[in-house]
Amino acid sequence: MGVKMKIYNTLTKKKEEFVPIEEGKVRMYVCGPTVYNYIHIGNARPIIVFDTVRRYMEYKGYEVNFVTNFTDVDDKIIKRAKEEGVSAAVISERYIEEYRKDLDGLNVKPATANPKATEEIDGMIEMISTLIKKGYAYEKNGTVYFRTRNFKEYGKLSKKNIDDLEAGIRIAVSEEKEDPMDFVLWKPKKEGEPYWSSPWSDGRPGWHIECSVMSRKYLGEQIDIHAGGEDLVFPHHENEIAQSEACNGKEFARYWMHNAFLNIDNKKMSKSDGNFFTVREISEEYPLQVLRFFMLSAHYRSPVNFSRELMEASKNGLERILTATYNLNHLLETAKEKEMTDEEKNILADVNGLNEKFDAAMDEDFNTADAISVIFEIVKAANTKITADNSKELIQKVLDKIILLSDILGIQAVKKEELLEEEIERLIQERQNARKNKDFARADEIRNILSDKGIILEDTREGVRWKRA
Ligand code: AMP
Ligand code: ZN
Repeated sequence: MGVKMKIYNTLTKKKEEFVPIEEGKVRMYVCGPTVYNYIHIGNARPIIVFDTVRRYMEYKGYEVNFVTNFTDVDDKIIKRAKEEGVSAAVISERYIEEYRKDLDGLNVKPATANPKATEEIDGMIEMISTLIKKGYAYEKNGTVYFRTRNFKEYGKLSKKNIDDLEAGIRIAVSEEKEDPMDFVLWKPKKEGEPYWSSPWSDGRPGWHIECSVMSRKYLGEQIDIHAGGEDLVFPHHENEIAQSEACNGKEFARYWMHNAFLNIDNKKMSKSDGNFFTVREISEEYPLQVLRFFMLSAHYRSPVNFSRELMEASKNGLERILTATYNLNHLLETAKEKEMTDEEKNILADVNGLNEKFDAAMDEDFNTADAISVIFEIVKAANTKITADNSKELIQKVLDKIILLSDILGIQAVKKEELLEEEIERLIQERQNARKNKDFARADEIRNILSDKGIILEDTREGVRWKRA
């Protein structure tokens, strides 16, 4: 597997060499969205960053088991359901669907597993029961709390100390808890809320327990990487560690990765503050590739301020790569099959050297910003050194390299062939004729040809309308 990667581990606050639990395999869990609305572009940051981490690990030869959950029962979902007069499941299913569309546009690989909290309640009840048996949890009036003081290492991820935390609590805490830092594992239902029966009450799980349970079920008691945005370090990930390690008696995750925030006007982009753009809104202005490129233009642990200027710069950067691959493809059409000259061999050696530089950047805690600069160096070499006189082999190899390295970042480096308007109209006319002649096979075939090129047809009473996807 060659040179080892280094990952900044929030747990040790150091960059560490990545050594997987099982050779050649990576078990990775990323906390997923609460599905009550469209995701905003801040939420897209961990999605893009950790998809890139996964892609790079796959390129290095690891088999990556990548799990990310859906929090599909939660106060915000229930509130939204009440507002619309539908069930919580209608809301969560709708936004899971919309989330998948956004991920598709961002070219994010599907997870190995996408468990939903509501389908894993049995596992949560079992883990909570074990925690009670081991003395790490207790029940009061149908609510189950985690007994934080019994987990001696509480605070090890966020570097917080329970006594300091408690000194900071000003609000009077409910008398039920033995200690103000104890947190909820199970809570009884309120009127009109979805619920499940349990040994303690009809109710629902707390948020933290779902990740401990799903991570164990799909990846095992110990995993390599657990990841999410930096706001999850405390309390979410701290509580996950407490639950999992108290229950399983072993270290939960070896490497904890956290992305910094995406800001807007130098303030955190968040739904509760109302200063956000959804991925869907941005997709109306830019291809989502541009958003992905923008997100990777900074290191994932640096805060980024969202701006139109930066998006425009990303758009231009991406365009430079697409133009280079377009030109190389064009040169290939006429290039001759011939032995590479020494000069060509040198160009290729330089390009391969740049591939190594790309790897070195990514091995250093996934420095995607430097990795992108390396792709630009190859693009520059292609633009300045390669002409129609070069051998087919050289052109193909340089083209393949740009495509390969871009793909590791989830960037599609080859422009989708766009159909011209006249061509679309011609095909639609041909489809109409085919339908008139009851040649439905041909009509369907044309619909598919168009859909492959990103053209969506809509049959209306006024005739056929089309749009680009
Ligand atoms: P949420 O739906 O708020 O739980 O967030 C889902 C994921 O997005 C979590 O990993 C958050 O840490 C992350 N996240 C939320 N807002 C931002 C932001 N402005 N920048 C980067 N990551 C964010
Ligand atoms: Zn989680």
